[in-house]
Amino acid sequence: MVELNEHMGHSIKMVDLHGQYLKIKEEVDQAIQGVIDSTSFISGESVSAFGSDLAFYLGSSYVIPCANGTDALQIAYQTLDLKAGDEVIMPTFNYVSSAEAASLLGIKPVFVDVWEDTFNLNENLIVSKITSATKAIVVVHLFGQSANMEPILGIANQYGLKVIEDTAQSLGAEYIFRSGIAKKTGTMGDLSIHSFFPTKNLGCFGDGGALATNSLELANRAKMITHHGQGKQKYVYEMIGCNSRLDTLQAAILRVKLKYLDSYLASRMKAGDYYSQLFQNSTSLIVPARSSFAKHTFNQYVLKIDKRDLLQDKLKVAGIPTMIYYPSPLHLQPAFKYLNYQIGDFPISEKLCLQVLALPMHTELTLSEQDYISSTIHQLNNSL
Ligand SMILES: *Cc1c(COP(=O)(O)O)cnc(C)c1O
Repeated sequence: MVELNEHMGHSIKMVDLHGQYLKIKEEVDQAIQGVIDSTSFISGESVSAFGSDLAFYLGSSYVIPCANGTDALQIAYQTLDLKAGDEVIMPTFNYVSSAEAASLLGIKPVFVDVWEDTFNLNENLIVSKITSATKAIVVVHLFGQSANMEPILGIANQYGLKVIEDTAQSLGAEYIFRSGIAKKTGTMGDLSIHSFFPTKNLGCFGDGGALATNSLELANRAKMITHHGQGKQKYVYEMIGCNSRLDTLQAAILRVKLKYLDSYLASRMKAGDYYSQLFQNSTSLIVPARSSFAKHTFNQYVLKIDKRDLLQDKLKVAGIPTMIYYPSPLHLQPAFKYLNYQIGDFPISEKLCLQVLALPMHTELTLSEQDYISSTIHQLNNSL
């Protein structure tokens, strides 16, 4: 019997990290072997070299590597000297990290709703959430597309708030200012955080993260925090920090992969454009909106559909993997019950959580796989 998930002799994957690795295997293997031979496993040469490479790529003055993107958020709050009782505004339709890291420090996450078409934080809803305790805004560039930075930076400036860009899903994406100037996401706020979790735009072979900033003062503070708050003098701790290091092996892998990042992004953008073309004539499958001010890098390709759960079940049987980012907004998560939000507080995010369906999206996706995915989706959707 022919396997249901066989397509041209192989199965369709949500992500294809192995296929991507095989194309650069020799270079990556050599980099890994180099670290093993050096036995410089902690804070080896590759770590600072990768930091410089990434700073150059971003056009940012300083990059501070750390253990993962969630740590980077915590370190960002500490670097900005946010304290218990301070409030930070962030979207509720999001991964958990920004709210989790805030809560750990006693900082209060204050949620806002998002745009229904782009999934990104709705800048028009920020001002009504600002109180005397508000200190910062976390802007999440979701699914690989920049949020509307120019008005957000304006609000932050007017109210004296710091801006942290969560660039975990959007390394290499761009925002275009009204003047026509384009800037990379992660270079516009006071600090940005990055994740090199394997499925991100730039992924390593485990966990990895970084912070980026143009401020020498913030860079020095962030670096100190990643090293237990230790200053220039060994075993003298200037402030409370943590232990959050990017592994040397991961840094060596990332240095190789960073050279290919723009070609990886080109593959994602091509696949994103093609999906949107394949679904554009459907009235029940809504394609993700492309903001006029953004270059979308499609870390995820997320459709909206009313009968999402039924379709996902049928696709699973047909051998097409899909994911739901995210099944619940943060304000309704058990962990954030203490913030006393209710169902109905953020109607757009709540609705999106019932509609979103992420399709297979990776650098190795072929046009014929996408044809097969879309024709199967159209066929199953018509029979729902
Ligand atoms: C992945 C992700 C993070 C966390 O990164 P880790 O490296 O997994 O800790 C934070 N924010 C967003 C939006 C993410 O997608």
